[in-house]
Amino acid sequence: MSTTLPNAMELSKEDWLQHSQAKGLPKFRANQICEWIFDKKISTPTEASNLPGAIKSSLIQDFSWEKPKVISRLDSEDGASKLLLRSGERLQTYEAVILRYENRTSLCVSSQVGCKLACTFCQTGKLGFFRNLNTAEIIGQYRIAEDIVRSEGRRISHIVFMGMGEPLDNFTAVSKAVKLLTSADGYGLSQRRVTVSTSGLVPQIKQLGVENKCALAISLHAPTDELRSKLMPINRKYPLATLKQALCEYQAQTGQVITIEYILLEEQNDSLKEAKQLVKYLHGLRAKINLIPFNTHPGSPFLRPQIKRMESFQKYLSTRGYPAPIRYSKGLGVSAACGQLAAKSQHNLDSKPQRQNVLHAQ
Ligand code: SF4
Repeated sequence: MSTTLPNAMELSKEDWLQHSQAKGLPKFRANQICEWIFDKKISTPTEASNLPGAIKSSLIQDFSWEKPKVISRLDSEDGASKLLLRSGERLQTYEAVILRYENRTSLCVSSQVGCKLACTFCQTGKLGFFRNLNTAEIIGQYRIAEDIVRSEGRRISHIVFMGMGEPLDNFTAVSKAVKLLTSADGYGLSQRRVTVSTSGLVPQIKQLGVENKCALAISLHAPTDELRSKLMPINRKYPLATLKQALCEYQAQTGQVITIEYILLEEQNDSLKEAKQLVKYLHGLRAKINLIPFNTHPGSPFLRPQIKRMESFQKYLSTRGYPAPIRYSKGLGVSAACGQLAAKSQHNLDSKPQRQNVLHAQ
């Protein structure tokens, strides 16, 4: 990641076939290399016991095998581990969060360091934007997490692009990573188990439907343009009607049920009026709703609603045919919960962020 060599972590089977052909190697060598990388998840070619020494040496010479470095790891009592990561000598850090449940193990990955979109309730948004992560850095988060959980007898079963950054604002790298993760010739995770979560970048949602068929989650958080534009400036560029059309198209293309993420903010978006407006907005879309009680953080103007209020909101949705579990985030104790990822390393705080609001009208 700090070198200029291509990183082995971001190559697909097709890339390895081309590379082997260029090196005059038979096709079965490319198959062996892929098996070592995607199935056995080796960290270096020296572990590939059935490859001749000359091929191992050339793989070491031609590619970087570097993964992000774990700068720190914080474990919370509820089964979450927050990993603070750095690539090579680069200053800025980013985060990945492992979430352990009884019957599955999820990984929340970051796609950018910081974010341009400045949603008012989000800590990452407050950082400003530093840079996009490349495909190797995204796949690297998965590989590191897989190494950790494998030693516990687990496997990463679900991946959600819900860490730092807006994944669809880093479309090329994210789309390539999703392909590697879900391809039968790659890591082979089910498309239903890899979820890209977006604040609603409409052209990229359409493009994702063409290039990938992964699950899609929308950070909706408000059922009217007036309220949503207040909470999420991106809504001024892609208002709710335009977003709905893109979601319907995505569903028609991929057959995926759309996940609606709705952070409950006291006295902002948590009344029965908003619940009714939400049901009206979702009409015609096969959607499941996750209600997320707001996780307070220093400097935030928002509060978490009382349980009674959240339950009334939830009850209304379920009587209208939308089961809407209230999802209490894991990892609160280590600031790894939803909206709390903000890589608090000294380097991030020292580096100058670029506030680039090119994606939305301010
Ligand atoms: S909620 Fe997502 S899109 Fe909005 S500022 Fe935070 S990271 Fe960016």
